[in-house]
Amino acid sequence: MAQISSRILNLNGGGSDGWEVFLKAREMVARGVDVTELTIGEHDIRTHSDILDAMHKSAIAGHTGYAMVPGVDRLRQIVADRVTRQTGVPTRPENVMITPGGQAGLFAAHMAALAPGDTALYVDPYYATYPGTLRAASAIPVSIPTRARDAFLPSHETIRAAAQTHNAKSLLINSPNNPTGMVYPKETLQEIAQACQDHDMWLISDEVYDTQIWAGEHISPRALAGMQERTIVIGSMSKSFAMTGSRIGWIVAPEPLIEGLIALATSTTYGVPGFIQDAAVFALENAERLEPEIAAPFQRRRDLALSVLAEQDTIQAVPPSGAMYLMLNIRATGLSGRAFAEALLETHKIAVMPGESFGDSAAGHLRVALTVADDRLADALRTICSFAKALADQHAVA
Ligand code: PLP
Repeated sequence: MAQISSRILNLNGGGSDGWEVFLKAREMVARGVDVTELTIGEHDIRTHSDILDAMHKSAIAGHTGYAMVPGVDRLRQIVADRVTRQTGVPTRPENVMITPGGQAGLFAAHMAALAPGDTALYVDPYYATYPGTLRAASAIPVSIPTRARDAFLPSHETIRAAAQTHNAKSLLINSPNNPTGMVYPKETLQEIAQACQDHDMWLISDEVYDTQIWAGEHISPRALAGMQERTIVIGSMSKSFAMTGSRIGWIVAPEPLIEGLIALATSTTYGVPGFIQDAAVFALENAERLEPEIAAPFQRRRDLALSVLAEQDTIQAVPPSGAMYLMLNIRATGLSGRAFAEALLETHKIAVMPGESFGDSAAGHLRVALTVADDRLADALRTICSFAKALADQHAVA
């Protein structure tokens, strides 16, 4: 066999990719074991039938050929209008490119912002694909650690120090955050924005959970003073409209950057299927009805989960202000998140993600996805709590 490139072979950075517990759970399910899966950010409902009708109508009407690479005009316009309305920043269709999901947007944004070998900063804990995405774009990923006691918010001093040391060219943030559920307050965003300006960095803002806010307010940093020309926003239909499998999202950025991205898409994805884009048009035109319906179960389960956790004191929760996850601090058990998650799956057939899958700052935590029916979630959390209590009691004696 000829040589495979190091870029492909080293996407994980040589370590674990963090998906072991998830894969083990999937394998158990395939064997017929009844596992409560609280691992990935996949809704327990499917795409709304009205959206599927729109998709079907579009396909039957013939929108199955090549679509415009930057996205169909109508969808670019709707996204631009939505961003203008929500952020107050005048946004034109020329500022928007439709992508095959937020993930492709994250990759394209880093391709556009960085030259090969440039340093790209990202905040730890992070969405599990981030370091690999940065490496795929030939960047050097450098993480910004955070602490549970600071609600996992990054400090601008740490960002500034890393920017200075590594001559970083971009910073990737994610609010509402996966895995922590934190919605960054305005003050934090302003400090981040200032650091980006002072160190001449692009700010890549992953806002794929922007319709799932349970406390506080979602602020897009593109709307902050001086940020429009150095912010690349990643949006997606996956979480807001339960369209994970449709692979559709967008990038909002300065026009010259979008022009470059269109050239990149022409030589990579060649756009997004027209019937998927038409379904997205329908969904966004009906956002007022559909978005709250899709977000509601996560808010309800977040409240339910916090009330279950209030009944005990072994596990500390970091109350999420957005998104579809809950972070549990299980350090009292003396186990790592990974060891706890493996034991939990083995003993109780409950699958959660180890905090370590999302970076060192989340060590000793579990990420619970709020993606099963309320009763099942409450039962699973009670089991997790009693399992943790027994382990913590043993740990205290040892
Ligand atoms: N960004 C974050 C923080 C996510 O959690 C996800 C998916 O879980 C994505 C981006 C990618 O979403 P998609 O590619 O489905 O739009």
